[in-house]
Amino acid sequence: MQKNKNSVISFVVSDKTQEMMSEELSWCMRDKTPAYAKWQAKDGDTVITLYESGKVVFQGKDADLSSDFWITTEKINSGKVSVKNSSTDKKSKTDSYVNPKIYYSSSIGSDEVGTGDYFGPIVVTATYVPKDKISFLEEIGVKDSKKLTDDDILKIVPKFIKEIKYESIILSNKEYNDFYSTDINMNKIKAILHNKVLFKLSSLVKDYEYIIVDQFAEKYVYFNYLKNTPNVVRNITFFTKGEDKHLSVACASLISRYIFIKEFDKLSKELNMELPKGAGTNVDDTAKKIVDKYGFEKLKEIAKLNFKNTEKIKK
Ligand code: MG
Repeated sequence: MQKNKNSVISFVVSDKTQEMMSEELSWCMRDKTPAYAKWQAKDGDTVITLYESGKVVFQGKDADLSSDFWITTEKINSGKVSVKNSSTDKKSKTDSYVNPKIYYSSSIGSDEVGTGDYFGPIVVTATYVPKDKISFLEEIGVKDSKKLTDDDILKIVPKFIKEIKYESIILSNKEYNDFYSTDINMNKIKAILHNKVLFKLSSLVKDYEYIIVDQFAEKYVYFNYLKNTPNVVRNITFFTKGEDKHLSVACASLISRYIFIKEFDKLSKELNMELPKGAGTNVDDTAKKIVDKYGFEKLKEIAKLNFKNTEKIKK
């Protein structure tokens, strides 16, 4: 896949994100920093510069991947982020290339949901889609879960879930918050969970050609997150927009979303309240009502406490 060599992505980050970046990237900081910069780091092929103004610049062919995590982090920390991307057009073209050799293979794929929602668990699924199921899945309308409504997903998943092999993990909010109180970040949690479902499924299915992960971190960063984890699945092909590259990833995102919706509805029923998805201001309002009714401790069981929302609710 050809990539634009000079991707430049920049955005302004809050003090909290600056602190987190300085810590996380301390291992690859350069000795010299350019004028007006606090520091410069070189992470793989990407050069990252934090300026005194609070602006951070990612430069290099994988700038989109390295910056992705920090864009999400900044969104969580300050509720919004405005990103400038000098290479959007070129990138989206190369990103959408689908290799027929891979698309029409019998493969395993994994994807996760719930990482952008304040309420509710994180769900990660791996599925195995053999060649001979591809046209059936296309026929019933399997595609990227982001292109489908929750109602669509509730209808489509029962049509194929019994036809394919899959493994899912639900990470409860309590487990998530425990993870986060040690030094584990969101991408490390994702890596550990992806590896778990991929290990289970690839042990059950022997005749797969590829294992495809919907990419959320650079390959070496992904494996670095797993350095103390047993049973690491190594033969992985990483793709951005993985749902389009092989239907196993699309099925994994749909099943994950299906489980997430069901868990979310259970939570709403338990609390006798309509919980909003995402992490916007309507989430803060609902969370405040929950704290008034059940106390702050309740949030530990139903929400991701490291999100910026928590501070707003405390106030
Ligand atoms: Mg994904």
